[in-house]
Amino acid sequence: PDTAGEMKVVDAVVEAMSRPFELTQLKVQIGVSVGVSIFPEHARDSSTLLRFADVAMYHAKRNKLHHAIYSPEIDPHTPRRLELISDLGQAVGEDQLLLHYQPKIRAEDGVLDSAEALVRWQHPVHGFITPDEFIPLCEISDIIRPLTLWVLRRALSDCARWQKSGHEFGVSVNVSVRNMLDSGFPGEVIELLSDFPMRRGALTLEITESALMEDPARVKLNIDKLHLAGVQISIDDFGTGYSSLSYLKHIPVQELKIDRGFVFDMLDDQNDEAIVRSTVDLAHSLGIRVTAEGVENPALMAQLRVIGCDFMQGYHIARPMPYEALRQWLDVQQGSVPGRSGGLAS
Ligand code: C2E
Ligand code: CA
Ligand code: CA
Repeated sequence: PDTAGEMKVVDAVVEAMSRPFELTQLKVQIGVSVGVSIFPEHARDSSTLLRFADVAMYHAKRNKLHHAIYSPEIDPHTPRRLELISDLGQAVGEDQLLLHYQPKIRAEDGVLDSAEALVRWQHPVHGFITPDEFIPLCEISDIIRPLTLWVLRRALSDCARWQKSGHEFGVSVNVSVRNMLDSGFPGEVIELLSDFPMRRGALTLEITESALMEDPARVKLNIDKLHLAGVQISIDDFGTGYSSLSYLKHIPVQELKIDRGFVFDMLDDQNDEAIVRSTVDLAHSLGIRVTAEGVENPALMAQLRVIGCDFMQGYHIARPMPYEALRQWLDVQQGSVPGRSGGLAS
């Protein structure tokens, strides 16, 4: 729903509440979080509307936001979700999670630059559950912290193993906004890095643009710390955040990943092509490299090269795969590198 009108009211409330109160000569400053649910989009009766507003308010509080609008994704109270959330706590400790790796190649010569770690959950009863379903559940519960640390530990350990066997490529890990708002997070990453010897700059953290916008000042503090420790920062799903790009001036970002929605239609849709083109130009003028995700066919690959995109990722290059399969994939690639005839360079 269009919520511009509602948001004006919310902003006015937040603004009014954020002024200090005088309490018998004492100045008191309080914080406020507003939860919004909208009739009739979210519900048609008052008790459900109130419950949904409550859900949104707790979401806002937990994420230290001034306000949040209800959506089913932030509602932990559906039966399947409640069950999965309680199972997730165990899954992280047991052997139910695994990582798949999706290669990202250099556009000019097809050489593997890094692998993106993508988490998978093999549920003992429900079978395979996609990250699109369970990551949001981790984010509304407190499981996102142990989950991200688990992914980081496994990814760094795998990366150290392949660097030890002579491969130079790095690893990218997706982090959620909750991680980036947590002031303890950079320290935890730095500690993990010290457990696994690898070249500086081998670890990239992918942060969505919308995560960056939730609380730019706090996120920037964490990014600065990570940057000092040699961690690369990538903006994931770039173009979907409707944000002002001015943050790119203030935050040390090394990579933009253009959302696959733009890449996918680029050959048929001139607007999408213009977006990809101008993103590449903008990034390059700021010294930032660009990765196109969702590269599904050779025609796209060729056009992305013409445009000057630096790196590519997508089903046409390789699907996400287990560690062992990545090693085999690499062997095949390396076999085809000399002269770069067939394979990915074409
Ligand atoms: P993402 O970061 O945008 O990851 C890329 C997703 O696009 C992956 O889905 C990948 O399998 C898929 N993909 C790759 N190439 C293509 C292509 O050519 N065409 C199409 N149609 N899709 C392609 P996946 O693995 O299901 O992950 C979905 C999302 O879940 C990720 O989106 C990411 O936001 C989140 N996620 C995955 N692993 C983690 C994790 O460890 N931590 C956090 N916080 N989020 C994760
Ligand atoms: Ca990603
Ligand atoms: Ca993405």
